[in-house]
Amino acid sequence: MPALMAVIERQQFIMGEEVGRLEEAIARLSATRYGIACASGTDALLLSLKVLELRPGDEVITTPFTFFATAGAIWNVGARPVFVDIDPVTFNMSVQAVEAAITPRTRAVVPVHLYGQMAPMEDLLALAKRHRFALIEDAAQAIGARRRIEGHWRMAGELGTTGAFSFFPSKNLGAWGDGGMIVTQDAALADRLRTLRTHGGAKQYHHDEVGTNSRLDTLQAAVLMAKLPRLSAWSAARRAHAECYTAAFAGLGALVPPAVDPANEHIFHQYTIRTPRRDVLRQRLTERGIGCAVYYPAPLHLQPCFRELGYEPGAFPEAERAAAEVISLPIYPELPGEARDRVIETVRKVCA
Ligand SMILES: *Cc1c(COP(=O)(O)O)cnc(C)c1O
Repeated sequence: MPALMAVIERQQFIMGEEVGRLEEAIARLSATRYGIACASGTDALLLSLKVLELRPGDEVITTPFTFFATAGAIWNVGARPVFVDIDPVTFNMSVQAVEAAITPRTRAVVPVHLYGQMAPMEDLLALAKRHRFALIEDAAQAIGARRRIEGHWRMAGELGTTGAFSFFPSKNLGAWGDGGMIVTQDAALADRLRTLRTHGGAKQYHHDEVGTNSRLDTLQAAVLMAKLPRLSAWSAARRAHAECYTAAFAGLGALVPPAVDPANEHIFHQYTIRTPRRDVLRQRLTERGIGCAVYYPAPLHLQPCFRELGYEPGAFPEAERAAAEVISLPIYPELPGEARDRVIETVRKVCA
């Protein structure tokens, strides 16, 4: 409240000093040089793709098993989303499938660090270098996640051309409204992104290119700065809940707990199990007043809006199977032990 009151007293609601401080802090957290705040995670993806100056027919490879915004942003910059199947163990995009989908028109790949676990960036980077495409990390669910590559921890957002974060209230670092951030190591890209978020003009009323209005409110930056010091403890609490769940679910025939790639430190934005009894489980949990959700029930290649891309059911069997089997359980940091036990008891009854 004092941080919000300070903004209200000063009344610099647009691009106040808190925004710059948050940009520096998020850049530091993700081991990048520049942070560019914007209005949402969706806009962080959209602006990241817009700087690539894609032309109609240019292809951007991504996963069909993600939140809609990933593919929506590709479509909205006028490029063609090219979907590839997922690795059924981590739910992240399959690198072999990416490699098989590369064509001379491939301009970018958008890996999504789904549920808070990083995709194999080292393999994707090798492909990006060989085939000269941009790597836009959709890190909306993965702020602070990291992966050990050649003996070093590398952060979500650190290795891509750009990384996109979301501060949607339910994300691990949530604002009190919408918000987003782009991070990058590239000074020229950072400059252009800053220009693009204020209508494409570095100087007021002079426009070098057509941008948009996509800024983070100063009030939201103040909220996020107040919450940021707690983020790593919150992520650790999520990991502790995940460990409890996974231990309690050992040996259940009809349940596969989430797998953590040994190279990864997972931040468990979601704790997502798979079970063929998903719909019964969802019903039981709901009856007992236990929150749960299916992320995501319909893979993107089968969405009506992408019909003209020509994908048929069966095109990506792993993504389609995941959509039919996944369910996410409560994992927020403050989840009380007794509540967690009630979740475990209910899940064990259904999936034994
Ligand atoms: C939340 C999310 C987005 C979009 O972020 P918004 O801030 O809601 O616009 C994009 N991609 C993924 C994977 C997300 O989870």
